[in-house]
Order: sequence, then C-alpha cells, then structure tokens
Amino acid sequence: MTTPLTAPEIARDTLKTLAVRKLVPTPENYARVYHEIAGTANGSPESVPLTGEQAKSALAWPKLIRDLLKQLDTPHKGITVSRKKDGLETVLNKFSSSSETLFEKLQGLLHSWSDAPTASSLGELIPTTPEPIAAGTTPPVAATVTPGAKAHAEMVSQLRELLAQTLESSLTSEPDLATDIKALAQQARATSDYDQIIQLSKHLRKYWIKLELRDSDKAKIQEGVIRLLRLLVDNVGELASDDKWLHGQIATLQEIISRPMDKRTIADAERNLRNAIIKQGFLKQSLVDAKTTLKSLMTTFIDRLGEVTEQTGEYHSKIESYSQKIGGTDNLTELSHLLDDIMRDTRAIQSSAQQSHDELVNTRKQAHDAEERVKQLEEELEQVSEKMHEDQLTGALNRRGMDESMDREIKRADRQQTPISLALLDIDNFKQLNDTLGHQAGDHALVHLTTVIKETLRPTDAVARYGGEEFVIIMSETALEEAMATVTRLQRELTKKFFLHNNERKLITFSAGVALRIPNESAEDVIARADKAMYQAKKAGKNRVVAAD
Ligand code: GH3
Ligand code: MG
Ligand code: MG
Repeated sequence: MTTPLTAPEIARDTLKTLAVRKLVPTPENYARVYHEIAGTANGSPESVPLTGEQAKSALAWPKLIRDLLKQLDTPHKGITVSRKKDGLETVLNKFSSSSETLFEKLQGLLHSWSDAPTASSLGELIPTTPEPIAAGTTPPVAATVTPGAKAHAEMVSQLRELLAQTLESSLTSEPDLATDIKALAQQARATSDYDQIIQLSKHLRKYWIKLELRDSDKAKIQEGVIRLLRLLVDNVGELASDDKWLHGQIATLQEIISRPMDKRTIADAERNLRNAIIKQGFLKQSLVDAKTTLKSLMTTFIDRLGEVTEQTGEYHSKIESYSQKIGGTDNLTELSHLLDDIMRDTRAIQSSAQQSHDELVNTRKQAHDAEERVKQLEEELEQVSEKMHEDQLTGALNRRGMDESMDREIKRADRQQTPISLALLDIDNFKQLNDTLGHQAGDHALVHLTTVIKETLRPTDAVARYGGEEFVIIMSETALEEAMATVTRLQRELTKKFFLHNNERKLITFSAGVALRIPNESAEDVIARADKAMYQAKKAGKNRVVAAD
C-alpha cells in the first residue's frame, strides 16, 4: 500500500516532472501533470487519465491503440519511427502477461513520444504543448510559439539555407551537374515537412552516386592523359636528344610524370617553363636574325670570289691577246703602246684585286662575328633550359637541380676518392616571421639567406632550396669538420649581415644538420641523416649546428 501524496508533494513532483519532460510550464500542462500524479481528473473529459479499472475496460483500449498509431506516424524530434517500433515491441514482449500493466506501460510510452517536440514542420520546429495522452489528440503544431521554439525554427531555416548555399557553392560548368545542383538547392529551400525531407534525401543520394561515378571517370581520364603525356615526352626526348635547348624542359616533365602528382612541383615547373618559353622566344628571334646575317654575308663572299675569278680570267685572256700582238709586231711605237696598255690593265687588275681582297677580308670578319653571335645565342638558349633547375624565388637550385648536382658530385667524389659533405638548414621560427612581418617579408628573408649563403660559401659549393624554408648545401671535397666550420661561419655571417625589413634589422637564425657521406651511401640517405641531425638541433633549442652520426 502506498501512502497518498500530500498536496505540496504533488505540487513539487508536478514541477519536477514538467522539468524532466521539458514541458513548458503553462497552466494547462501544470494541471495535466498534477492530475496525472495525483491520480485525479483534471476536469477535461478528454484528458482523464485512465485508472487500472478503466484500463481494463474495453472502451479504453481502442482509444489507446488509435493514439499509439497516430503518435507513431507523427514525426518527433529525436525519436525515429524505428525507435518507436522498438519501444512498442519491448513493452509488448515484457508486459503482455497483465493487461493492466500493459495498458499503463503503453500509455507511458505514448507520453514519452507525445512529450517530445514534433518535427512536423521543419520551418517551425516547435516543441508543442502536449495534450493529455488520453485525449488522443495529436499535439498541435505551433499551438504556442515560445521564444525557444522561435530560435529553433530560426536555426532550422538557417540550416536549410546553408545546405542550399553549400550545394550552390559547388556549381560547376558541367551543364547537367549544374542543373542537378540548382534543383537540389531549390528543393532544400522549399523543404518544410518530414515527407519533403525524405524526398530531398533521396535526391541527394542519387546526386552523390552520380558524382562518385563521375569522379571515377575523371580519375581514369587523368590516368590516360598522363600515359599519353609520358609517351609524348619520351618520344620528344629521343628526337631532340641533340637539342640541348630542350633538355631542361624535357627532364622536368619526365620527372613530374614519373612521380605521384604534387601541386607544388607542378606549379613550380609551370612557372619555370613559362619563364623559359619567354626567354627562349626572344633568344630564338635573335638567333634567326644572326643566322640570316651570316647567310647573306656568305653569299656576298661567294659573289666577290666569283667577281675576282672573272676579273683574273679576263686579265688572262687580255694578256694572251697582248702576247699574240707582241709576237706579231716589230714596231717599237706599237710595242710601246702595247706596253702602256698592259701596264694600265695590270694596274687596274691589281687595284681591283686589292679591293676585292679587302672586301673579302671584311666580309669574312663579319661572317665570323655573326657565327660567334649564333654560338653565343645557342649557349644562352641552353642555359635558359638549364635554369629549369633553379628555384624562381631565390635563384638557388631547386630539388631537380639539387638531385643532379648531388649525382654529379657523388660520382666525382667516388672517382677521385674525395670526401663530400652535406648540410640541411631549416630557418628557425619562420612561421612566426611570416605571421608578424607578412608573407612577402618572409619571401625576402629567403632571398636574403640565399644571398648570404652564396657569399659565404666557396664557388664550388652548391646551395639548393630543399623545401619552403629548408636549404641544402652540397660541399664537395669537404670533410665533416671543415663542413661544420663552414656552416658555423655561415651562422656568424647571418648575425652580421642583417635582414632589413622596413629599415629595421631582423635577425634570422637557422638550425642545421651536417653529414659526411659514407662510402656508397645514396644521396637520399645522406640527406636523411642530415635531416635527423637538424631535428636534434631544433630539439636542443634551435640556432645551432649538429653533426650527424
Ligand atoms: P621551426 O623553428 O621549428 O622550424 O619552426 P618554423 O616556424 O620555422 O617551421 P614550420 O614548419 O612550422 O613553418 C614553416 C613556415 O614556412 C610555414 C610556411 O608558411 C613558411 N613558408 C614555406 N615556404 C614559404 C615561402 O616560399 N615563402 C614564405 N614567405 N613562407 C614560406
Ligand atoms: Mg621546416
Ligand atoms: Mg623552420
């Protein structure tokens, strides 16, 4: 036997229940819950809670079932239909032995659903004021618009708009996708009830499947294009094997397509290639001009030679006729006239020959100059191609240039049995420098560091930009101790040669790892050891040089 609750106890429990069920404390709700706890009627014939006796009554069951069915169909926030069905299943399984208990439990279940805010109107997703379950009414939507409900509705409408905008932001130039996206965005904006949400989600799913199929098509197309490009580059590479102006460009392309695609390398190569195309464009025009000049000089030269031969030919035939005339006369006066003629012709031919000779020498010199210019231009074209190996910002070698330089130096070291050392530098707190002074100042600092490195090192040492703010120095014919001393000297130089930003002195420091190549060690392995040492330098407090193990 339970002791009946006193009025204050019922009032206290009522308030508690209202809070637990998250019900708005309206007089109606208060009255309903109060009567529910007290086990009394609240005056409304529709909201009279059923007692155990009544539960047994045949009249109460159809009503309860009708209510259950209705609430089952009503979308409630946070309670899916399958969850409702599971709940029903559990209650039916557990309590079917006693119809009274079953009735009560089913009623409790009904309460737990109907107390939840309905989601029947997405735009106005409002926790409704639930009616007494026994009344069997579907909680009316938006019966009372509370401030919380308003905020809720606002949030849902914002989410709807966000979804539409997210879809629109993925608008592409592909016509059928664009049509889908526009239709979906429109549908998202117009979605205002549960059924429409289901429709929208179906359409969205279809759209995703379409996207997935397209992506896999795109990947296949990309692979195909890369295969074609690889074939073309290899073929052009072979055809142009003697053409040094193309070496750098072809090597770059071959390297890019031999590795997994990387946005930064592609962008770098594109910048380099554009530069090379512009520079080589100018040079090629000059080369064409120089070659035309050379050709026209050669033609002049040959014409002149022809003229000289012609003149000497004429002279010979004149001499021939003079000698015949001399043989056929004994007249002294005539002989004297003949001699005068011979002398005149000889002088004429002499001066013409001299003139032709001078012209020939002059033309030959011009042709020689033109040939030199052609050679020089060809070399410049070659160099432009080689510049594909430079980092655009700093002028240091880029990764490709570094790889080639390392290969060359390693071969030389092996041939000559000389040591070779490598240093890996990483600027300290560079992100902070970028953040405080700006990215452009960061770029200038990278150029400054490269300049100081180049000024400090021997011309035979090579410097390469290994990554964003990481540099590699290749020191040929250098043992570890000497290499450490060089990098330490560089560190000191940087404290003297300040980086100026807006006329303010900024100190740049770096941490470095230095490694001596051990016999037969690959370039990657030496770099990896230097990198490890550099990392130790960072860990030990930065601005220091550490020798690799
Ligand atoms: P730590 O001392 O540990 O090396 O710190 P850090 O800030 O130098 O290193 P972190 O790797 O965190 O940041 C490197 C920064 O270098 C981040 C990136 O924005 C910047 N960076 C990389 N490449 C460039 C570039 O070309 N120009 C500029 N201005 N900044 C770059
Ligand atoms: Mg770094
Ligand atoms: Mg750094």
